[in-house]
Amino acid sequence: MSFGLEPLHKQLSELEHSVDILRNSTPDTIPLNEVIYDRRARDGTWCTLPYPPNHENGCKEYPDCINQRPDFRDLNYSKWWAIIETYDLRSHALRMLFKHKWTSRWMQRNRRHWQKQVIAKLKKKAEAFAAGKLGQTIILDVPEACGVNLFATMAKHGIYLRTDPDLVYKIMLVGVK
Ligand SMILES: [Zn+2]
Repeated sequence: MSFGLEPLHKQLSELEHSVDILRNSTPDTIPLNEVIYDRRARDGTWCTLPYPPNHENGCKEYPDCINQRPDFRDLNYSKWWAIIETYDLRSHALRMLFKHKWTSRWMQRNRRHWQKQVIAKLKKKAEAFAAGKLGQTIILDVPEACGVNLFATMAKHGIYLRTDPDLVYKIMLVGVK
């Protein structure tokens, strides 16, 4: 299989355009009316689920991911916000195909090549948001590890997370006392 340059760039710009529409309509911050708790996020049930291609035992950080973070039910903050950073994974995957000729979907989408920078950007955004608030604040960098069901919480606020997304949403929570 060979890839001519023109159609590829056209394909890429069309993809970027369609994902951009969704991206542009996504707010940076959302005030949360409700945060949904699920003990399975906190007791290791979700962390230890196997996921492809080679994580038979689930999350590699477990149980540190949970032990190093507070339980959401123990936190006493009156107001919560979701801070959101998006990443166009579909275009990234296509760029990896063009640039490195990686045809494996797993290689194209491998978190190693994009996740760190997206999380760093999100962390900065959360810190700037928290710094602008009066009163004591807290940042939950991995809300799931605190017992938050992020899928259910965000769905209540119009953001629909997927396990295998083209547009990635990375989310941290900020609480204000
Ligand atoms: Zn974990």
